[in-house]
Amino acid sequence: LLLVLTGNGTGKSSSAFGMIGRSVGHGLHCGVVQFIKGTWECGEHLLFKDHPLVSFHVMATGFTWETQDRDKDIAAAEKTWDAACSLLTDDSISVVLLDELTYMLTYGYLDKQQVLDTLSRRPAHQHVIVTGRNASPELLELADTVSEIKDTKHAFNAGIKVQKGIDY
Ligand code: ATP
Ligand code: MG
Repeated sequence: LLLVLTGNGTGKSSSAFGMIGRSVGHGLHCGVVQFIKGTWECGEHLLFKDHPLVSFHVMATGFTWETQDRDKDIAAAEKTWDAACSLLTDDSISVVLLDELTYMLTYGYLDKQQVLDTLSRRPAHQHVIVTGRNASPELLELADTVSEIKDTKHAFNAGIKVQKGIDY
């Protein structure tokens, strides 16, 4: 299955990591690639980074979002995509999470067709979960399951700062 968790509401990455937790519970080998390195050290990284069943890769710092050095950002995205490609061609990995991948396609940091082709050619038994806002129509088309999480209300808008365990 290819699952896409998109939309502006909170709960995309946390849901995806819930599936990684389920899979690990069943003894399945998993791969995680995070395309955006957040400001805070997140609990899921601390939990899974040294887990024998999880291969965890986080995009190196240096990705700016400020497009001051777009070439450097593209290089960082491509290096991270290489890590994703090794997982997506590895028969022994049952579940792959590509966290925040959608932004790499939306902003053209990765070649969309190349990403879609690699996803299509992955091992037949391998599940892939993609998260991030504004998933592209082609990705939604390829997916088997798509959930769009709606931002009905968020504590952040009431001035409440990020909470350990809930937000990271
Ligand atoms: P989570 O990691 O909680 O599952 P997410 O993956 O759905 O969130 P992202 O778009 O990746 O959301 O945003 C990452 C961070 O921004 C998280 O700390 C999350 O709590 C926060 N966040 C997500 N959606 C909103 C929102 N609508 N308003 C404010 N903050 C948000
Ligand atoms: Mg997220």
